[in-house]
Amino acid sequence: MISKISLIFLAFIAILAMFGKLSTAGRWLGVTKKCRACGRHKIGSGPCPCTKKST
Ligand SMILES: [Zn+2]
Repeated sequence: MISKISLIFLAFIAILAMFGKLSTAGRWLGVTKKCRACGRHKIGSGPCPCTKKST
């Protein structure tokens, strides 16, 4: 019983990891947004480094 549940749990985590990798790959392949200020591709959800105030 417990081994079956743990197997299902592991499979669920593996599927989640696969989806996470797919979405990350999609971001890297062409869904990246470009910065309006400098035109570089933004990586991740944070703002572009060029928008940060240096001082
Ligand atoms: Zn920028």
